[in-house]
Amino acid sequence: MIYAWVDGQRRQPLVKGEKTECKHCGGMLTAVLPAQNIPHWRHKAGDCDTWSEPEGPWHLQWKESFSEECREITLRDPLTNELHRADVLYGQGTGFETVLELQHSPISEEERISREQFYRQGRRMFWLVHLDTKSSTHGWSFEISLNFKDKRAEYNKHIYGIMHWFGRSTQFIEKWKRSNAHVFFDFKGHIFHLANKRLSEQLNNGMPLEKGEFAVCELTRKEFINAVQRPQSGR
Ligand SMILES: [Zn+2]
Repeated sequence: MIYAWVDGQRRQPLVKGEKTECKHCGGMLTAVLPAQNIPHWRHKAGDCDTWSEPEGPWHLQWKESFSEECREITLRDPLTNELHRADVLYGQGTGFETVLELQHSPISEEERISREQFYRQGRRMFWLVHLDTKSSTHGWSFEISLNFKDKRAEYNKHIYGIMHWFGRSTQFIEKWKRSNAHVFFDFKGHIFHLANKRLSEQLNNGMPLEKGEFAVCELTRKEFINAVQRPQSGR
């Protein structure tokens, strides 16, 4: 985790050897200041959020795009007592909550589904999936798939291109097409909204998209941030 409470202040660790207590499980947190990565906290006896993953500069810069009090919010399922940390949570307590999950490392479809089931309880959920060209081939596939010329349709003042996924397998894009949340890709700092099943059909004259076919529109970073912050958006 990037933030923890130290003497009434929520922050990143500043010096090596710093220690504090996790507010949620009471476990001891120690400062980690790696030369190659961002300063963060580590649970000495295992993270209380079993979904926690190593985070880097990509996570940090996105978390910093949202106000401090919205970052890393721990949510607990009242029935099962299961606990997870949302990367960003907007509108807490307003009745119009939005969770943003920042996904850098690949996850299986089962993991995607269980996270959606947890976070979507009474909330809207956005995924921001990092299409990193360094760690996977998906970024490369995405880049050569982009095509806004051949097949396009307008929805909500945005132009969506309908295109084919290039690459050996369509597993990646199909997995995200099946999501019940709102899926966005971050590709080299450009943000794309992936149309879900319902919107895709609407864009495609009422016909479902074929396997490997997908529809995206490009958004500015600001438009994306606004969409997360807007309480009742249809997208
Ligand atoms: Zn903890």
